[in-house]
Amino acid sequence: MGKIVSFSNQKGGVGKTTTCVNMAAYLTDFGKKVLIVDIDPQGNATTGLGFSKSALKQSVYNVLIDDDEKASQDIVHTEVPNLDLLPSNIDLAGAEVELVYKPRREKVLKNKLAEVKDKYDYIFIDCSPSLGLLTINALTAADAVIIPIQSEYYALEGLSQLMNSITLVKQHLNPALEVDGVVLTMYDNRSLISRQIAEEIKKFFTKRLFEIVVPRNVRLVEASSYGKPIMLHDPKCAGARAYKALTQEYLNRETKK
Ligand code: ADP
Ligand code: MG
Repeated sequence: MGKIVSFSNQKGGVGKTTTCVNMAAYLTDFGKKVLIVDIDPQGNATTGLGFSKSALKQSVYNVLIDDDEKASQDIVHTEVPNLDLLPSNIDLAGAEVELVYKPRREKVLKNKLAEVKDKYDYIFIDCSPSLGLLTINALTAADAVIIPIQSEYYALEGLSQLMNSITLVKQHLNPALEVDGVVLTMYDNRSLISRQIAEEIKKFFTKRLFEIVVPRNVRLVEASSYGKPIMLHDPKCAGARAYKALTQEYLNRETKK
């Protein structure tokens, strides 16, 4: 059975999509079969993997809204062998409201992913920057959460809301949900702020903070603008090495469980 991991933080621009896409790509390098579910109406994981949002006829929106639409009908293969995508586009913006009228509205994604769960080792859900119904669906479907945090001044702001949401989902919808890890992104070794933030996050999350931090690296921005994971764009750059090492650290943690 595949493990479902939600990449969540209701702040935008903290590295959720970059971390989700690149960890997923490196997992395939380590022999895993991975599906990314893009559940952000902005569709950055979708474009980041080389798909044009406007050319998509069907997306995760149809899977969530149409009772008869199966996830497998809309999953596409990416350029990376063993990495598949359930894409998103702006249609999904309507789902947040339309889902409200569905029975068991928090469990729609969980129920749809059940069909494909055993075809993958990992299913990564790339969340939008909100704690709305789409994110609640992701947290309800997930076995675990990975929280990317940008190393900047207000990094801790809003984290208590995220932790509250996780606690509420655990209490009411998904008791088995765990926080698998916290990743510091856009880290600048030379900056005092980055180092101070790292200290604070470490105090707050202790062992859940990954030891590998992702440095600020413009190659990662380039890669996503070319629609490629960093593994294919520039596998030797600092960002690529960090994401590969992070994925290795994640797998090591998994086997120790
Ligand atoms: P989120 O999904 O949380 O909104 P993204 O992963 O899209 O965040 O990252 C926000 C922006 O920062 C994107 O333009 C992305 O390319 C860039 N970015 C992400 N990680 C890094 C990094 N380590 N170094 C430099 N730029 C980064
Ligand atoms: Mg994103």
